[in-house]
Amino acid sequence: MIRALMIEAENMTRFHDVAEAPLGAGQVRVGVRHIGLCGSDLNTFKGLNPLVKLPRIPGHEIGGEILAVGPGVDSAYAPGRRVIVMPYTNCGECTSCRKGRLNACRYNKTLGVQQDGGLAEEIVLPAEKLILNDTLPPHHLALVEPLSVGFHAVERGRVAKGDRVVVLGCGMIGMGVLIAAVARGAEVIAVDLSEEKRALAQQFGAVQAIDAGREDVVARVSELTGDDGVDVAFEAVGLPATFTQAIDLACFGGRVVYVGYSKAPVTYQTQFFNLKELDIMGSRNALMRDFQNVISHLAEIGDKADALISKVFPFEEAEKALPYWDSNRNALKIVIERGA
Ligand SMILES: [Zn+2]
Ligand SMILES: [Zn+2]
Repeated sequence: MIRALMIEAENMTRFHDVAEAPLGAGQVRVGVRHIGLCGSDLNTFKGLNPLVKLPRIPGHEIGGEILAVGPGVDSAYAPGRRVIVMPYTNCGECTSCRKGRLNACRYNKTLGVQQDGGLAEEIVLPAEKLILNDTLPPHHLALVEPLSVGFHAVERGRVAKGDRVVVLGCGMIGMGVLIAAVARGAEVIAVDLSEEKRALAQQFGAVQAIDAGREDVVARVSELTGDDGVDVAFEAVGLPATFTQAIDLACFGGRVVYVGYSKAPVTYQTQFFNLKELDIMGSRNALMRDFQNVISHLAEIGDKADALISKVFPFEEAEKALPYWDSNRNALKIVIERGA
């Protein structure tokens, strides 16, 4: 038996002993070492995630170590090597998969969402979902997936050197957008209600950070861009007000990328879709090349990435982690750590 944390009901998590999954052909048994909590895990905990059926083991931001391999697995996947988990599935047959857009598979089952996740001592996964990495510090492996979602959004938005960019919402996804856009030479304006998150955004290269609670965001961005608006506006909050604001912030001939999920319907005045001839894009999950880009970037910035981790809980105290985040919403990333 292995220990796993389950979200049993709204506001209730508890450790359970669950049977070890059998190790089939092509599969690898991974000892979970670090696991980050995602906003989607918090939504599940609050009973606000319609994709999840309870009880569910949450967690899809996973760094670990290979414990054992099943038959037919490449010898590179040797016990003791460290891995980053790609927590999505792709059917290979839907239209997205056929176009090579595996991140948007119609039948995707993300770990911890549509199937049990990684907040456990071990998890068994197909070898092709594991990225070997023995060079990054182990606790940074859990940062790769959430940052890659932001990196993918920046790829979608075709952000280029010299672009002016606004990022609405500086949670971990917005921070990934910011970091990737800055790395491409864009000038990034960050917007958030939280002072801590704005400070962190500036630490990671935002040229301006606007307090959405006190300032008129559209007026301020207009002022900062000489009345033009931005080349690319990213929505990483998930509220109707920021969905429509992104349209207002984009320049004529600009682009809008939606990476946040709005739970409520959004009402638009659509004329600016046409008048500005906007490219409006959705962005979902991430591709292998986004993961690789994040890994390279983390290798470059080294210890600086530690600033993205707000709090670490030992695995034994994982029950406290979601309630803690619920009452400390300014926390950017909470990581659970398991000793070897
Ligand atoms: Zn996530
Ligand atoms: Zn598919």
